[in-house]
Amino acid sequence: MPKWLYCKQTHLVRSQMIVDLHCHSTFSDGQLTPSQLIDKAIDAHIALFALTDHDTLEGLQACHLAAQNKPIHIINGIELSVRWKLHDLHVIGLNFNAEHPSLLNLIHLQNIRRIKRAEKIGGLLEQCQIPHTYTKARDLAGHDRIGRRHFAEVLVSEGWVPDIASAFKRFLKRGRPAYLPSEWCDLATGIEVLKEAGGSVFIAHPLHYRLTRSKLRSLLRDFKASGGTGLEVISGNMTPQQIRDLANLCQEFEFFASSGSDYHGDRSGRISLGKQAALPENCVPIWHHWPDWQNKPDKS
Ligand code: AMP
Ligand code: MN
Ligand code: MN
Ligand code: MN
Repeated sequence: MPKWLYCKQTHLVRSQMIVDLHCHSTFSDGQLTPSQLIDKAIDAHIALFALTDHDTLEGLQACHLAAQNKPIHIINGIELSVRWKLHDLHVIGLNFNAEHPSLLNLIHLQNIRRIKRAEKIGGLLEQCQIPHTYTKARDLAGHDRIGRRHFAEVLVSEGWVPDIASAFKRFLKRGRPAYLPSEWCDLATGIEVLKEAGGSVFIAHPLHYRLTRSKLRSLLRDFKASGGTGLEVISGNMTPQQIRDLANLCQEFEFFASSGSDYHGDRSGRISLGKQAALPENCVPIWHHWPDWQNKPDKS
């Protein structure tokens, strides 16, 4: 396929397009609403965009609405929490039917698991003599899909730790007193359901899990065998060496590549929307293989 295909909606040729297929809104643990994200994405000249909130589709409608008649194309997205062996992983689902019954059912189950987990995390923090964090986290989030980041923000605002990173280090990450082993759906189920809904599935930020080299390769083999589509080769801030490494793995396993900022808001200290590095030349971007988005009006 030629690299210069023209995109009618954004008036850009494809090789010049800025793409961001991973970010979060107030419907999960981000700081901006979907409509604020769309404004910011347009300011950043993003042509192709996906909101990928944790285990929820709640923000998608607002996202499509805000993008109507604007020079940006939105595809459906989600960041699903899954279990693989003893590891908590994230997969990014893209370009699926957001009304598919199996997907809605899985998200309903994930939501129940998330609420139960949050209540238990609150209990564990209580045992550390830190009271009422569950209700405070829920108030702060404004919904009940509470994640560890909300707890981290409460711990910072109440002065228990100086910053979010310390909250994870002292209390919330694996091995710390308020960490709980996951009860998320398993990796194969997550892939199966997202694919049933017509989507593509990517391992989010594959280097975040601190897997040994052989464990990472074993994950990639299992992911491929279960029908996974590809790797998020670019995710937020990465070193050139990390990018080369992931791009080579992506090529070796014949995966497609995806790219996103994992933006949570300007206070999160990570890079902003659309500011992640470009995909290396040896990667095949998944959006080059979505035949129907280049010349069609927004499907929302
Ligand atoms: P959860 O879905 O509740 O397990 O929370 C995962 C979210 O917590 C991630 O998407 C990040 O937003 C945040 N997070 C996880 N680990 C860290 C960390 N070490 N420092 C800062 N934020 C983190
Ligand atoms: Mn998050
Ligand atoms: Mn993630
Ligand atoms: Mn994310």
